[in-house]
Amino acid sequence: MTLQPGATLGFVGLGNMGTPMVRRLVEAGYEVRGYDTDPEARERVAALGATVVSEVDKVAAGADAVLLMLPNSDVVERVLYSDGLLEAARPGTVLVDMGSSRPHSTRTVAEWAASRGVPMVDAPVSGGVGGAEAGTLTVMAGGAAEDVEHVRPVLERIGGKVQHVGDVGAGHALKALNNLMSATHLLVSSEALLAGQEFGLDPEVMLDVVNGSSGRSGSTEAKWPKFVLPGTFDSGFGLRLMLKDMRIAVELARETGLPSALGESAVELWAKAAEELPPTADHTEIVRWLQNEHGKGRR
Ligand code: NAD
Repeated sequence: MTLQPGATLGFVGLGNMGTPMVRRLVEAGYEVRGYDTDPEARERVAALGATVVSEVDKVAAGADAVLLMLPNSDVVERVLYSDGLLEAARPGTVLVDMGSSRPHSTRTVAEWAASRGVPMVDAPVSGGVGGAEAGTLTVMAGGAAEDVEHVRPVLERIGGKVQHVGDVGAGHALKALNNLMSATHLLVSSEALLAGQEFGLDPEVMLDVVNGSSGRSGSTEAKWPKFVLPGTFDSGFGLRLMLKDMRIAVELARETGLPSALGESAVELWAKAAEELPPTADHTEIVRWLQNEHGKGRR
C-alpha cells in the first residue's frame, strides 16, 4: 500500500527547502509532525498547519515515514543515532533522506535502520527553493523498488518528477555528481561572461546568444538571469552546501579510479570563496567573489 494523503509523516529539517516541502504535504492532506533545532523554523511550519514537536525523536510517533531535509550526513547521523530518532521509529516506518548526504554514510545508516526493521530510501532533489515551492523538483530515489513505490506519492507531491535511480545511496551519489557539474558550469560560465563584459559585451546579449548556443547550462538559463544580473544573489542554496556536494563528488570520482581534474580545481576555487565570504553566502555569490578576486568588483 502506498502512502496517500492522510498518512502521518515525521519531518526533520525545516529550512529553505524543508519549509516549502512541508507546506505542500500539509496542503495535500498529509499529517505532518515537524522538528527543527531552530524555534523560528518550528513556528513557521506550525503556522502552515503542521504539528511541531519539541524533541526530534517525537516526530517518529505513529509515523508511516520520516523525512529528513538536513544540511549534511554528520547532522543526519547525529539526529538518527545520538538524538534517538532511529530508536524511536517503529518497524515498518520508512526513513527518507531528502538532503544531499554522503552515499557511504547513507549505506551504513540504511544497514543499521534495516536491522531495526526500518527501510531506507535516499531521495535528494534538484530544482532549488523555487522548485520546492512549486513542486517541480527532480527527485533521485535510491532504495529497494517496493520501498520507493511505497513513498512515491509523497515524493511526487513534493517534487513532481521522481526517478528511481538504483539501490540505496545511488540517489545521493547522483545528486553530488549533478552538483559538481552544476557548480563547475557556474564557475566557467561566470569566468567567460565576466571576461566578455570586461571586453565590452553586454551580459544580457551574451546570455541571449549563449542560451541559443552550445555553451548554455542551468547557470546561463536560470542562475545568471534570476540571481546574478538583478544583483540579488538569493537563490536560497548556500555556497557552503554546494562545496559539501562538490567534495562528495570528487571523492567518489577518486574512489572509482576516475578522478576529476577539472572538478578538483573547481573545489579549490570554491573552497577559497567559502573561506572569504560570510557563512550565510548564497552559492550564486561565487560570481561576485570571482569579480573581486581580480579587483573588478562592480555589483
Ligand atoms: P537550510 O540550512 O536552509 O536548512 C537546514 C535546516 O536543518 C535548518 O533549518 C537547521 O536549523 C536544521 N537543522 C540543523 N541541524 C539540525 C538538527 N540537529 N536537528 C534538527 N534540525 C536541524 O538548508 P536547505 O537549503 O534547506 O538544504 C537542506 C539540504 O538540501 C542540504 O543537504 C542541501 O545540500 C540540500 N539541497 C538544498 C537545495 C537548495 O536550493 N537550498 C537544493 C537541493 C538540495
